[in-house]
Amino acid sequence: VPAEQCLTGIAVSPGVAIGPVFLATEAPTAVHRATIAADQVDAELARFELAVQQSQKQVRKLRTRLAILPQDGQIELSPLLDAYAMMMGPSRLTRGIRARIAERLVDAPTAVVEEVEWQAGAVLALPQADDADGLARRAAEIGEIGLRLVRNLLQTPFRSLAALPAGAVLVCDNLRPADAALLDPSRLAGVAVEDGGAEGHTAIMLRALALPATLGVAGLMAAARAGETVVVDGTAGTVTLRPGETALLAARASAAAFARERQRMQRLRRLPAVTVCGTFVELQANLEIPAELPLVAQSGAAGIGLLRSEFLFINRDTLPDETVQYETYRQIIEAMAPDPVTVRVLDWGGEKESEAMRAAGLMPEPPELNPALGLRGIRLLLKHPALLEVQLAAVLRASVHGQARVLLPMVCRLSEVRAARAVMLRVAQRLRRRGAKLPDKLPPLGIMIETPAAALSADALALEADFFAIGTNDLTMYALAVDRGDSAAATLFDPLHPGVLRLVRFAIEAALRVRKPVSVCGEVAGDPRLTPLLLGLGLRSFSMTAAALPRVKQSVRGATVEDCVRLAHTVMEQPSAQRVRAVVLGS
Ligand code: PEP
Ligand code: MG
Repeated sequence: VPAEQCLTGIAVSPGVAIGPVFLATEAPTAVHRATIAADQVDAELARFELAVQQSQKQVRKLRTRLAILPQDGQIELSPLLDAYAMMMGPSRLTRGIRARIAERLVDAPTAVVEEVEWQAGAVLALPQADDADGLARRAAEIGEIGLRLVRNLLQTPFRSLAALPAGAVLVCDNLRPADAALLDPSRLAGVAVEDGGAEGHTAIMLRALALPATLGVAGLMAAARAGETVVVDGTAGTVTLRPGETALLAARASAAAFARERQRMQRLRRLPAVTVCGTFVELQANLEIPAELPLVAQSGAAGIGLLRSEFLFINRDTLPDETVQYETYRQIIEAMAPDPVTVRVLDWGGEKESEAMRAAGLMPEPPELNPALGLRGIRLLLKHPALLEVQLAAVLRASVHGQARVLLPMVCRLSEVRAARAVMLRVAQRLRRRGAKLPDKLPPLGIMIETPAAALSADALALEADFFAIGTNDLTMYALAVDRGDSAAATLFDPLHPGVLRLVRFAIEAALRVRKPVSVCGEVAGDPRLTPLLLGLGLRSFSMTAAALPRVKQSVRGATVEDCVRLAHTVMEQPSAQRVRAVVLGS
């Protein structure tokens, strides 16, 4: 019997699975280049149409399958299926394939393979270094559609995972997102794949399905044998084939611990966010895209503390009009009602690319020397008030359907708050004249505290703004003069620097003195290790990515305000980030 063998890969979905190997191999689909005669073009085009129809039918079937997936699986797969459906409609891809058949006189499979290769290559060659993952995913989507079309053209069967025995560990050379969607997490123990990375759709799907998984395991297919026991540790990113007694015992213990932890997190959802001493804390979610809404609901968030509205302005050629924006805000506000939704108006800066913004002539020309210090956030909006007016009109109208708040990004001065409020009042007046239904009381108008100047003049700003949302991401960047997106400088970016913490404390205290609501919505709000410190600084409202919420709640429920205040005192006396870290994290 061959000995125990431990392979390493990429940890993509946490948990430990133990079970027999189920080897799923797939016959490669080989396409040999074939040309056709001119009089065969019509028949070949018809053959291609049939394959398209068949593929569309398969994607529709996948969509019906969506309904029975857990919610976060739906969130992940739904946009992917939309992309598939779009690409199989009257798209660049299908047009390109037809053109190849008709003009280059190749058969349909050849046309698919060559067009897919060309278009995927073109996507990968796009000069957008900062979204390399996004481009790679897009190229993979094109490849996936191509493979589906070729298989349907050649009538080769898709890999069937239907025969997967209960409790098995799926071991395969690669796993497409659509395949992952067909996995049944109640029957399957875990997944190990030779190919694949941490950021792809497949990885996200597996996380959504809560299936322990390790991807990118080099040498896996050569070493694994069907039926033998395997341990997949999706937390450590390892796969242990033929585990010995010691390895098995350890794996069983961690599998049990993981299951207990997961159950505890699920129970937390229904428990209140209250400290041991009885102080209630507001835990809200940050929202990047509407598709996250089910996740937010699952997290038990008490509203949206930060809706980043930038998503409305990307991936499109024209600016979203009032109706498009209204419909989007309304959907979110209705879904969250009666909890509040804090819509942050567009936080655009020169460093982001938006076709729509450029086409509308709203981006500075020539590009700014230092976009982070240029026309960003509220500055840009006040320079182009029409942009702000449309967005505010949409929010005001949508606010009838629940509870909305308006948040201004990148505020530095009082005049910006006053000017924005004037715009909001003007827009409300105009809407009322138009006969639009608005709430009697307009939504509160708050500001991000994310520049050192705003933090240090928070006492003055607190008289002008209805609430504060402290953005520690930008606050740290501007306070420490370190680019938040620069990986080389990443170690210098430290929200625990005493300079940053003093800015945060000053802003919190300024708000509390005049009894204005204040929250933190930067990444630190989602770090449960920092919850006691923030509570100790007087914070009672946190907004974070939905996934972080249960753990922060757990931290709140383990804290007493008195201890937190004492901790904060000690922390604020420390001379360096290193010492702060030692006090807060005990490291
Ligand atoms: C922040 O700067 O901390 C913040 C929450 O805003 P964003 O990350 O969207 O810039
Ligand atoms: Mg910010």
